[in-house]
Amino acid sequence: MSFKEWFKKIKKEYDAKKKAEEKAALKEQKSENQEYPNRFVKFYHLNKEKLNKERKGSYSRRRQTGICVRCKRKVVPGIVFCEYHQAKQKEYNQKARQKG
Ligand SMILES: [Zn+2]
Repeated sequence: MSFKEWFKKIKKEYDAKKKAEEKAALKEQKSENQEYPNRFVKFYHLNKEKLNKERKGSYSRRRQTGICVRCKRKVVPGIVFCEYHQAKQKEYNQKARQKG
């Protein structure tokens, strides 16, 4: 391969890469200004992070309110599960212990 050919090849690759990058940047820009199908979807997209944080927060909130973290039944005092899920959890822990 001559230097000219090599240079052509490199330039072609470089141009292709640049084009791809430009395309990606454009796509990103587009998605930011995107029209959402409805305001709920828009709200979700704009508040995704916040919503996720709140979802995590609801775990400790439920702990405080005495509601099972897996369903909406009342918890057994002192733990985060209702009777049903406490039993489930015990079963699960036993299985995990047997495995290890
Ligand atoms: Zn439960």
